[in-house]
Amino acid sequence: MTQAPKIGLVSLGCPKALVDSERIMTTLRAQGYSFSRDYAGADIVLVNTCGFLDSAKQESLEAIGEALNENGKVIVTGCLGVEEELIRETHPNVLAITGPHQYESVVSAVHDHLPPVPNRFVDLVPESGLKLTPRHYAYLKISEGCNNRCSFCIIPQIRGDLVSRPAAGILSEAEGLIRSGVKELLVISQDTSAYGIDIKFAESKYRGRDVKAKFYDLAKELGQLGAWTRLHYVYPYPHVDQVIELMAEGLVLPYLDIPFQHASPNVLKSMRRPANQEKTLDRIRKWREICPDLAIRSNFIVGYPGETEEDFEFLLDWLEEAEIDRAGCFKYEPVTGAPANELPGIVPDEVKEERFAQLMEVAQDVSYHRLAQKVGRTIDVIVDDVRPEENRVIARSKWDAPEIDGQVIVDNAGGIKIGDIVSVTVTDSDEYDLFATPARPAN
Ligand code: SF4
Repeated sequence: MTQAPKIGLVSLGCPKALVDSERIMTTLRAQGYSFSRDYAGADIVLVNTCGFLDSAKQESLEAIGEALNENGKVIVTGCLGVEEELIRETHPNVLAITGPHQYESVVSAVHDHLPPVPNRFVDLVPESGLKLTPRHYAYLKISEGCNNRCSFCIIPQIRGDLVSRPAAGILSEAEGLIRSGVKELLVISQDTSAYGIDIKFAESKYRGRDVKAKFYDLAKELGQLGAWTRLHYVYPYPHVDQVIELMAEGLVLPYLDIPFQHASPNVLKSMRRPANQEKTLDRIRKWREICPDLAIRSNFIVGYPGETEEDFEFLLDWLEEAEIDRAGCFKYEPVTGAPANELPGIVPDEVKEERFAQLMEVAQDVSYHRLAQKVGRTIDVIVDDVRPEENRVIARSKWDAPEIDGQVIVDNAGGIKIGDIVSVTVTDSDEYDLFATPARPAN
């Protein structure tokens, strides 16, 4: 297994610079980088500088010099970054220089000089998401590791058992992100519904109150910060019902990313999936009663060892009945070190291919019908991209996570900017996307 690339971070200056550093760290951490406490252990060093006073400039230049001497590979960011000439005169060997609040450029410079190591079995962020995280959304990691032992997965071997962050730390980070312009928080972990179990749901002080490290409590607190809160990697445990109520109240986005991986009881048991004993279809029905607007995204594996034709048919029927709004699919591949490699009943590649195509066809059909039901509705969307030459913006609804789900293509969209949340009327739909125009302003 390739080791995660390591970054050293020297953070100078005021609290705003600190928030920038945290933001950069969060983005890089979510992309699989790790951090080193010393220069020697780092593959590259980031120096977040301050340029407010001459003394601060001097201190920043000295910090860059020290990082160059001790490590040699240095990227400079922060307030002094606007004085590129001064930095280059003193330290011609720095690899890249960016200014304050230029998260995307810093992350991009890190990618250029120390590329991330994508690993779809370990990464929480899709590979396509590695380019940049735009300023208006951010990943918020609430725990590391996992207490489950799914037979196809080596994450617990690599990252260890579940280690949850105290709620107060997560909430402060979320607040900082929102202060720096983030409009949408994407909550990630390996098993979000298990949050806090390892620390016995310990309370921590946030704004003078005790907040429990519990899935429901954290979701509620995050939902009150004023940004969209989207939950990824949730398993269908009974206690998730309560969180669906928060979605019905509009505090948390009506969206659940649940990696079901399969539906057939035989396969789920062999996969050793969490919550595989729960009556999932009943649970989903109940969730939709509580929150009719709920969208469910999931991922499935076809061709798992021992998967019979019957198991696969069961999965297809289940997919239709559960009306999974957004489904992704992998053809099973052995991962070095995973217990599933020892299982009998290897599925031939051509059968995997066939099942993959069949599943995607059913998934597309379900998605098509689910999206068609949205036509005529007026909904809020968040804008990811603007195309002024076409008078069009590319946005997402509350039912779409960035990079993995569909889009809302909004026409006649002059004057709308990236990161805006706007109200639109859905005029059409296809298998994956919605089409819309801005809703008329209310009288
Ligand atoms: S829940 Fe299963 S698949 Fe997910 S990280 Fe834990 S062991 Fe791996």
